Amino acid sequence: MPELPEVEALAGYLRERAVGRRVDRVEVAAISALKTYDPAPSALSGRAVVDARRHGKFLDVVVDGGLHLVVHLARAGWLHYREAFPATTPLRPGKGPVALRVRLDDGSGFDLTEAGTQKKLAVYLVTDPAQVPGVAKLGPDALGADLPTFAERLRSRRGQVKGVLTDQAVLSGVGNAYSDEILHAAKLSPFAITDRLTDDQLAALHAATRAVLGDAVRRSLGQRAAELKGEKRSGLKVHARTGLPCPVCGDTVREVSFADSSLQYCPTCQTGGKPLADRRLSRLVR
Ligand SMILES: [Zn+2]
Repeated sequence: MPELPEVEALAGYLRERAVGRRVDRVEVAAISALKTYDPAPSALSGRAVVDARRHGKFLDVVVDGGLHLVVHLARAGWLHYREAFPATTPLRPGKGPVALRVRLDDGSGFDLTEAGTQKKLAVYLVTDPAQVPGVAKLGPDALGADLPTFAERLRSRRGQVKGVLTDQAVLSGVGNAYSDEILHAAKLSPFAITDRLTDDQLAALHAATRAVLGDAVRRSLGQRAAELKGEKRSGLKVHARTGLPCPVCGDTVREVSFADSSLQYCPTCQTGGKPLADRRLSRLVR
């Protein structure tokens, strides 16, 4: 799932490449992805792209006249920038991974795609990003929050730190992958309870959040958006590395599985050497 660093890089690429170009036309192939109907996508035609921004994990393409194309890429969505489209034949609704295509006046443009059968990609055309429910409830940006704000937000919600850190209403931008990395860098168990964290632990968590996200943004910006792969992140130390050695201490990275996700962590770095109970497995054993 694209998180803050990948969406930031996509916004940066669009600012560089698409700003100043006019929208030629918009084609919607996956009608279920479009969550608003007024204004219609045709309202974008003829308008110039003036900015591209990020709100948490949402991408916001701003066109003149104050219209915002707001996109949530969900788990398997991505934005592919095309220097040219292969043919002028229109997209066939319901066929293939392309949900929405935006053609610009220089022949370039971008496709919003979604892999797999679970269709969760969401596109909104609004006059104010706050009209998007998911944007309206976002907490402060995880990368921009200073330590007092960060600590106040984390302590405002009692729960396991992994869950609280990925709750977009608490802090926005962090998802499953970067929360694993942040907790590893902060040497905290994913199951530590937020209101029991000491000031020192919260300061370490804040510093780790900025370092991990900042590094990932810089790496992502170094790549061209066409080559940015949401699933192929570089520089991860524990996330998606189950069974491999921790690059910090050499211990084996372990995993806890849930119904539809999993987390990875290093026992030596994060849990005093003790493996966490795998809930799925321990339920079977019981
Ligand atoms: Zn380690």
